[in-house]
Amino acid sequence: MTLTDHPIDTPPRAPSPVHGFGTLAVHAGSPHDPTTGAVIEAISLSTTFAQTAVGKPVGLYEYSRSSNPNRDNFERAVAALENAKYALSFASGSATTAVILQSLAAGSHVVSVSDVYGGTHRYFTQVAKAHGVKVTFTPEIEVDIREHITPETKLVWIETPSNPTLRLVDIRAVATQAHEHGILVVVDNTFMSPYVQNPLDHGADIVVHSVTKYINGHSDVVMGVAAFNSDAMKDRLGFLQNAIGAIPSPFDCWLAHRGLKTLHLRAKEATVNATAVAKALESSPHVIAVNYPGLDSHPHRGIARKQHRNGMGGGMLSFRVKGGHAAAERFCQTTTIFTLAESLGGVESLVEVPSSMTHAGIPKDQREAVGVFDDLVRISCGIEDAEDLKADVLQALEKAVVSPKISHGLNGFANGYIS
Ligand SMILES: *Cc1c(COP(=O)(O)O)cnc(C)c1O
Repeated sequence: MTLTDHPIDTPPRAPSPVHGFGTLAVHAGSPHDPTTGAVIEAISLSTTFAQTAVGKPVGLYEYSRSSNPNRDNFERAVAALENAKYALSFASGSATTAVILQSLAAGSHVVSVSDVYGGTHRYFTQVAKAHGVKVTFTPEIEVDIREHITPETKLVWIETPSNPTLRLVDIRAVATQAHEHGILVVVDNTFMSPYVQNPLDHGADIVVHSVTKYINGHSDVVMGVAAFNSDAMKDRLGFLQNAIGAIPSPFDCWLAHRGLKTLHLRAKEATVNATAVAKALESSPHVIAVNYPGLDSHPHRGIARKQHRNGMGGGMLSFRVKGGHAAAERFCQTTTIFTLAESLGGVESLVEVPSSMTHAGIPKDQREAVGVFDDLVRISCGIEDAEDLKADVLQALEKAVVSPKISHGLNGFANGYIS
């Protein structure tokens, strides 16, 4: 038997939407190597590709900024998972945002939800305007989007859930109103990952991800991706991907693709863990409030049921701890499994205090208006064991909230006794 007798299909059994998410995650964009049969793609580091005659490359590729095999395969996989026709990847989530904003003509107007990712807020307020693009922010986009639309409005930007308060936006409600005015809708789906939420299915035109988070999932790649269905958008954003050149390396594409193959397993486990931690926090006397879209107490639980796979809450949550900022800081220093660090979506669990870390750049009054108080702690649940995470959170609460009171009391007593 030779290879030509039984050619190795490329891809082996072409995945299609009839297949489930896990099957697509493992197989989409993962052809067997047609010459060696290798099941895992090679990392194609070559920057240039040979041509047999002038302008006649041997295969599909000419120069690696324009396209390369690892990037193509990764993009195919993301497109499959987001039910999109196309995906384009970039050097970071931020570069993805920048390229989408750059695709707008000077004079364009954008309406955005208020509590977007800090870097997105920075780009909207400090970079976009240099290109003549103006952004209006609203905390209640479903309610007042019409009031903000002008003849120049070209784009609506949604992040759902929001960061770090985990509020949800009804994508369908916003898309319906935006589309009446011919306005495109972008959803930053980083917090949910394509496993929990597929914004294009709810009417969005473009879905973006910081691949750095859940899609890569192992905290070792910075990368971004946008997925969509429009051919015209493929031409425009594909042109800018090449012209601006903020592209990911073949190695990063390979790593992110490897991470993506287990996204369904990781996202499921992160939800199980976040649900356990959220419930433990909710029943603790040391906690003021818990923000987790998987809890029935969440004000937008109905949107989660409609928009998220099986109503899953995802791996992210935040909570307000009793004892103010000092207690929040102590909590983050006292956990033993959760690492005190920014970022999210990795296999390892993380904690942080948004008011002095990820959201420190936002003025206090603006921060507090959207619920980012000094005592708010944000948690990214990884895929460790739920019981261990729960126990870690509960012991850290005791140390952060109860022990300082006791030692303060003892000190007071001791001082009084001595003096
Ligand atoms: C991290 C993040 C980004 C930015 O992505 P980078 O890969 O860090 O540039 C954008 N949106 C959200 C929601 C994020 O969490």
